Amino acid sequence: MFELTEEQKMIASTAKDIAKDFPPEYWREKDANNEFAEEFFKAIAKAGFLGLLIPEEYGGAGYGMQEMVVGMEELCANGCGAGGVWYLVLTEIFGALPISRYGTPEQKEKYLPRIAKGEMEFCMALTEPNAGTNTLNIQTFARKEGDEYVINGNKIFISGVDRAEGMLLVTRTTPLDQSPKKSLGITLFLIDLPNRAVKWNPIPKHGINFSKTCEVSISDLRVPEDAILGQKDLGWYLLLDVLNPERMSAAAGAIGGARLAIGKAVEYTKQRRVFADPIGSYQGLQFPLAEAYASLQCASLMMRKAAWLYDTKFRIEDILDPEKRVKMQAAFREVGDASNMAKVVAVENSIKAVYWAMQCFGGYGYAREHDVERWWREVNLLRLAPITQQMALNYIAEHILGMPRSYRT
Ligand SMILES: Cc1cc2nc3c(=O)[nH]c(=O)nc-3n(C[C@H](O)[C@H](O)[C@H](O)COP(=O)(O)OP(=O)(O)OC[C@H]3O[C@@H](n4cnc5c(N)ncnc54)[C@H](O)[C@@H]3O)c2cc1C
Repeated sequence: MFELTEEQKMIASTAKDIAKDFPPEYWREKDANNEFAEEFFKAIAKAGFLGLLIPEEYGGAGYGMQEMVVGMEELCANGCGAGGVWYLVLTEIFGALPISRYGTPEQKEKYLPRIAKGEMEFCMALTEPNAGTNTLNIQTFARKEGDEYVINGNKIFISGVDRAEGMLLVTRTTPLDQSPKKSLGITLFLIDLPNRAVKWNPIPKHGINFSKTCEVSISDLRVPEDAILGQKDLGWYLLLDVLNPERMSAAAGAIGGARLAIGKAVEYTKQRRVFADPIGSYQGLQFPLAEAYASLQCASLMMRKAAWLYDTKFRIEDILDPEKRVKMQAAFREVGDASNMAKVVAVENSIKAVYWAMQCFGGYGYAREHDVERWWREVNLLRLAPITQQMALNYIAEHILGMPRSYRT
């Protein structure tokens, strides 16, 4: 647990090598020009990163989240910043991972080999304008008509939909007021894109401009029954099983991005002199960076624990088996606990680290050419997505500390 396996070391070292070819200047340009990082995407595909979570029989490497977070963190830390994690989340966590875990043999055959080769990008459409953080309140509805489903609804902030050929679409198949439990009645679909029934419009945004984030409208989208991933009405647990790895990935991105910013700040402050000594000798700059660094190391351990729990303890199939259900529910909770704690601590301390890196650069930190202002724009997203810090803290207070839920649903 405390030491990387030989495979993980190899993945870390490959990630470092890739990142050297895509230094901060590369991402600065992509961000400024609102351009997809095509060359980087090809490089991670060639190195096998897009197949990391895909079983070998479908062209992947058959690794788990433990290897994935190590690779993500190193890509981010060695030059890529948020770019090192973003495309992997969209295609690998939203596409490869749930299909590998829950897809039918036909779905696996259809999607996984193409994802592994870097021929197909993915996205996930969960968030809705009226539901926001209250996910169970989504209104996108899939109505059964003969042997098809007809889907209508609106989604917001859907990243990568402009290029994706696959979408993990979260719908209701039983209205909330008719579901025996709020968490029942959610169904996940695998949608092939582009499709005339799915229209998108980019939302100009603060950072991560090497990827588009869009509002999406879906009108009378017709899909066959076999487009369902998992089981009808039981999509909630499957969705959480995607959102937990997404939180681990957010932690990896936060930790890696902060390592990058701290490294640059240390390098700069050792050389910059305005009074007699280099500014790096002042404790006013040292302490906040040191504190953030130490906290990030702790967050990294929790992130790796979350990934280990995910890889080794939980299988959703077992939750349907009455004999294994209680054990599986406990394992599921443990994954959620560790993922949320890792995300909260990694993100708060990453924001602190990047903030202080910017201070170290003084006025130059505000100039585009030093990249810190871009990392600042990137890292602040993580307070809002994939889960807001407040909702992750709500989870910890309610589910780990056993305090009363502080909000009505
Ligand atoms: C750049 C970007 C990319 C994204 N990509 C995707 C994507 O690819 N796919 C996708 O489905 N979604 C995506 N999202 C959506 C993202 O996950 C949501 O924006 C996020 O979950 C918050 O939802 P909301 O914006 O509706 O905020 P709201 O739910 O409106 O919340 C607003 C504020 O109120 C606080 N709040 C709400 N309820 C509570 C409570 N009970 N207690 C305390 N505080 C509370 C929140 O923490 C937040 O600070 C993306 C968002 C952004 C900005």
